[in-house]
Amino acid sequence: MSNRIINIDRASQEDFDLCIIGGGITGAGILHQAVERGYKVILVDKGDFASGTSSRSSKMIHGGVRYLKYLQLQLVQEALHERQHLLQTFPHLVKPFPFVLPSYHSSIDLWTKEIGLSLYDRLAGKTDFSKHKRLSTQQVVDKLPGINDKNLKGGILYWDGRTNDARLTVDVMALAAQNGAVLLNYVEVLKFEKDNNTIHSLICKDHIAGQSIQLKAKVIVNACGVWTDDILERAQLNEEKQMQATKGVHVIVPSSKFPKDYVAIVDSPTGDKRMLYTLPWEHNMTILGATDTEYTDNIDHVVATQEDVDYILQAFNESFPKVKLQQNDVIGVFAGLRPLLHDGSHNAYSRSREYKIWWTCKNSLHIAGGKLTSFLSMGQHCIEEIEKKFQMNGRSISQAQKSYNGEWKENYGTLGDEIEQILIDRPESRAFISEKYLYTIAEIVFFTRILMARQLEDMLTRRTTITYAMKDWDIALVKSIALIMAEELGENDEWMSTQIEKYYLHWSEYHPEFLKTSPLK
Ligand SMILES: Cc1cc2nc3c(=O)[nH]c(=O)nc-3n(C[C@H](O)[C@H](O)[C@H](O)COP(=O)(O)OP(=O)(O)OC[C@H]3O[C@@H](n4cnc5c(N)ncnc54)[C@H](O)[C@@H]3O)c2cc1C
Repeated sequence: MSNRIINIDRASQEDFDLCIIGGGITGAGILHQAVERGYKVILVDKGDFASGTSSRSSKMIHGGVRYLKYLQLQLVQEALHERQHLLQTFPHLVKPFPFVLPSYHSSIDLWTKEIGLSLYDRLAGKTDFSKHKRLSTQQVVDKLPGINDKNLKGGILYWDGRTNDARLTVDVMALAAQNGAVLLNYVEVLKFEKDNNTIHSLICKDHIAGQSIQLKAKVIVNACGVWTDDILERAQLNEEKQMQATKGVHVIVPSSKFPKDYVAIVDSPTGDKRMLYTLPWEHNMTILGATDTEYTDNIDHVVATQEDVDYILQAFNESFPKVKLQQNDVIGVFAGLRPLLHDGSHNAYSRSREYKIWWTCKNSLHIAGGKLTSFLSMGQHCIEEIEKKFQMNGRSISQAQKSYNGEWKENYGTLGDEIEQILIDRPESRAFISEKYLYTIAEIVFFTRILMARQLEDMLTRRTTITYAMKDWDIALVKSIALIMAEELGENDEWMSTQIEKYYLHWSEYHPEFLKTSPLK
């Protein structure tokens, strides 16, 4: 019996301490901490894990240098401590990376930046990330070839972390599953059944098998990011609007266009004084980001527009004038929504990145806001809240991680052991799926079996990063991956055809037609 069928059975038959709604990084953080405290926990997501904001971030594990400007020191300090914690806990997914912050026009600007970075180092406390260094004009130009050097006065080199956000989310989940948590993607919470101001069960729909499931748990946690208000509505909890999302778009270009060894932080040239960045990433891609605009449209379907792409290209053509970026250089785009707390303000960029935790009913906890970097401490605060309210006492166990030091450790941590097992059973699965994307068949099986990929989109966008890099539709590659998944999931040809059609629509959002037709004006 597959893990999914076992989990569906357990979901409908057992009572849980905690049910977490939402399988983004916030839900993953609560799950991780709940399992560490020995609770019996189930997590459901209406789509794939990390299919919301948690696969559409800038992929930085950082304190947030720019929040210093708004004096959000507590937020920065918490995130810096988390940065260190994540480096130690998930070293295969969180890696230190150097950032360069150029300074223009006056030495005052450079001094101000240096004071800011000294404070950043101080707030970080004891850490494995190196401290900042001041750079001369020539050093900035050497590190960031092509950077605009007009009025350049020097810069600052500092270190933050780089990650793969979707994999971080899913790996945390897979480790919790190894320690007994029940996880279900494609299970949507539709209705809340209440009695005496207590939620006693959740009515859910399994979008894979089409069946209805009733879930029972002592405490319900809403970790639905931009869908927080939607959950409050479904639970008929007449709360005020809690969320005010902003849209963030990233543009992907070949890594040959921008610095490969550093993140370059540049000011947007449009007068809005925003910080933008070039982030070298997987498969020889560089991510340019990001926009930050108010969003009131459909939160289930967010896409990049021509206007978003124009903004990014214009910004980087001014910061790197020699690169002369054209629209046909663009490999792809992706768009996400920041789950920011509603404060009624109209300045998206300066809106707080803080989070809040609150109760409705006797047993329903909500968490909203925050950032990727802070997910473990957000999870810990939720568990402390729950333990305080219900006088529950967890056991404080450390999640058993198999000790594994084999060849897959660098990319998969202790989960690499599972790939080794697949290779023992099927030595031929050491073959790569293509010459361009160096994933082995064994990894595709692992992503399906252990990291719970159910659909082609899950595999190509969130377990691997092929969707981003595949500028032109490659049906042979897509079919070969669908075949490996179909064998592993026990699915047939019809499933494969439906999946390929569905995936094409998803891929098209990352590679919209307008990129091919209208060059930068
Ligand atoms: C452009 C951009 C750049 C960013 N860059 C960074 C960065 O570099 N570093 C950083 O630290 N942070 C960054 N962030 C912030 C960070 O990405 C988010 O704070 C974080 O991913 C939010 O995670 P979440 O779990 O709260 O929400 P989500 O990831 O959106 O998860 C919510 C989940 O709830 C599920 N759900 C909704 N309704 C239901 C239902 N009825 N039943 C079941 N499931 C449901 C959804 O399917 C979804 O998967 C960035 C954000 C954006 C948009």
